[in-house]
Amino acid sequence: MDKQITQLAQWAARSTSLVAFTGAGISTESGLPDFRGPGGIWSRRRPVVLSDFLASADARREYWRFYLDFFPDFTRVRPNPAHLALAELDRRGRLAAVITQNIDRLHHAAGHAPEKVIELHGRIDRTVCLSCAQDYPTDQIIRRVEAGESVPVCDHCGGWLKPATVSFGQDLPREALSRAVRLSAAADVFLTVGSSLTVHPAAALPGLALQNGARLVIINATDTPYDDAAHLVIHDSAGTVLSAMIQALDPPPSA
Ligand code: NAD
Repeated sequence: MDKQITQLAQWAARSTSLVAFTGAGISTESGLPDFRGPGGIWSRRRPVVLSDFLASADARREYWRFYLDFFPDFTRVRPNPAHLALAELDRRGRLAAVITQNIDRLHHAAGHAPEKVIELHGRIDRTVCLSCAQDYPTDQIIRRVEAGESVPVCDHCGGWLKPATVSFGQDLPREALSRAVRLSAAADVFLTVGSSLTVHPAAALPGLALQNGARLVIINATDTPYDDAAHLVIHDSAGTVLSAMIQALDPPPSA
């Protein structure tokens, strides 16, 4: 792996528009399960799609039971060495942006400026009314669910509340998606970390970067559909690889 890390560090050092694209796998070392990896969430629960949430009271109850089970994990986790390595790359002026599919806010906690992180699938710490868009802290709403309100509704208009995360069948936030498209098309290095690269439309971004001349680097524990097209594929843990990449970069000017 040493040669691959050296190659990655060289590309990162010379890049003028490196974009990191992250998925649930970057957060497993923080203790959050991914969806499709071994032991992933989908091995235990089926996702509730948006059309079911809108059409069925049972689906809405099931959806909130899911959040009741998983939300506490999200409140406890801290950034791991992979998040911290990307934040260090940013501090050294070598990162144009992080496009993330994650909802866990761990890139923000690692220290990036908010405008550097594009959240394609929303954020778990906020909850919104599907009717009037009033927004609430999710922990406040979870307390209401714990107290017996199985499907919480908006205090202002009585509409259904749903965490500000993108469900299957739900549109991605328009501005985030268009920024992600622009940055991917302009990237000279596109570094995917901990993503199965199977969830669309997000998974089209590595292809867009490739078409526009980027070097595609994939760091993932398991195979992805882009492995054959990528310039560099490292099948190892995100924390190990990204920490080693930082070590292999030249030291920062003040060191
Ligand atoms: P995914 O579950 O489809 O794929 C995760 C990939 O990461 C897998 O291929 C797995 O082999 C790999 N992986 C797991 N641990 C790793 C590690 N330590 N180092 C390197 N690779 C590792 O995830 P996805 O591609 O992000 O797509 C699924 C959806 O899951 C996204 O929409 C995202 O919103 C949602 N999700 C987010 C979180 C989170 O915010 N932390 C958690 C679960 C799911």
